[in-house]
Amino acid sequence: MIAAHSTDLADLAQQVIQGRQIQLDEALELLATPDEQLLALLSAAFIIRRNYYGMQVKLNYLVNAKSGLCPEDCQYCSQAKGATSEIPKYSLMTAEQMVDRAAQAVRNGASTCCLVISGRGPSQREVQAVADATREIKQRWPSLKICACLGILKDGQATQLRQAGVDRYNHNLNTAEEHYREICSTHTYQQRVETVESAKEAGISPCSGLIVGMQESPQQLVQTLLALRDLRADSIPINFLVPIPGTGLADKAYPLTPQYCLKVLCVARFVCPTVEIRCSAGREKHLRTLQPFSLYPANSWFVSDYLTTPGQEEEMDHQMIRDAGFEIESLGATSMGPNAMGSSNTVSTSNRSCQSGGGDCQNGSGSCHSSEAAGPAEAVGGGSGTGACGQAAGATNRTSVATGCGGSGSC
Ligand code: SF4
Repeated sequence: MIAAHSTDLADLAQQVIQGRQIQLDEALELLATPDEQLLALLSAAFIIRRNYYGMQVKLNYLVNAKSGLCPEDCQYCSQAKGATSEIPKYSLMTAEQMVDRAAQAVRNGASTCCLVISGRGPSQREVQAVADATREIKQRWPSLKICACLGILKDGQATQLRQAGVDRYNHNLNTAEEHYREICSTHTYQQRVETVESAKEAGISPCSGLIVGMQESPQQLVQTLLALRDLRADSIPINFLVPIPGTGLADKAYPLTPQYCLKVLCVARFVCPTVEIRCSAGREKHLRTLQPFSLYPANSWFVSDYLTTPGQEEEMDHQMIRDAGFEIESLGATSMGPNAMGSSNTVSTSNRSCQSGGGDCQNGSGSCHSSEAAGPAEAVGGGSGTGACGQAAGATNRTSVATGCGGSGSC
């Protein structure tokens, strides 16, 4: 049993950094943390987050390169067969159009551009178009990471994407295996697992996440996180269901509170301590004014719009990140995570040296007296100065450029 006391939670965080694996019952207990102890949970998750990612926030930009008209019946998706949602519908963008959107990603301060197409899986022509666009993007912005999200892959397609320079492949598990039939009948959970595995075999960093709020039980939610850990996903997008009118789940989604969403992110950080945890679709709707608190467990956000739903103004995202004392990861210092595949993982910021070097910032233990490096419990206590630590986030913040695209982000 984990006593819900801040000291115990901080101790558990240190144990996780030392290699302890959180088990299902422990994760359920963390998820059940009472709202009044949420700050202690956030502070503990932040110890782990800061150990691996410092104060860096990775921004990702979505390009909906083909929208709507999908033959699959995913109940959460506005692009699904049977969905009556009013969304843009168009066939695959040209490579030139995708390159133009990548330029927007760079302008918006993103270090990863996600090329997403609707459908069960890509045709050979579609893989070729994404490969061509990737080569062109890499030529113009060699440091910009490319994540492809094209659905279920056939033999050889992952290798083709890798050879073109695709860094990461996204295919979400979305929910627990035992719950999968409730949300989709046209493909299986196992097919999703196999696609992630094929990306890994081709040397592409695997990205796979989930959607919270699809009538799953807490146990099923935790099972999904454990499955993602077993799958060795390098990046885990946590989506909070936006019940889009016209989708199968529009009237069945259960209400999500900002506090519950934050707890899910904390549990994800405890279960999968080293990976990129991305607070994804639904952040604006469900976390609302508490969005900045998501940065304590999560180290990654989408910037701008989702696939078929709007985000918020990019400058608002940037401002929230800066105001909370975090730093947007610059294009040249993009980290794919400490253990990620296919990446040089260059994290070279002042915060990294702060946490690993001497002084009182070490180990992300929360003992740094800079309010900008302090956990949420301290921050809420009113710390707003620049702090004593010369290596704190605010000392090196770059001036971020402007903002960005849109959907649920969960193909
Ligand atoms: S999530 Fe992807 S596969 Fe499922 S309906 Fe939407 S576009 Fe199609």
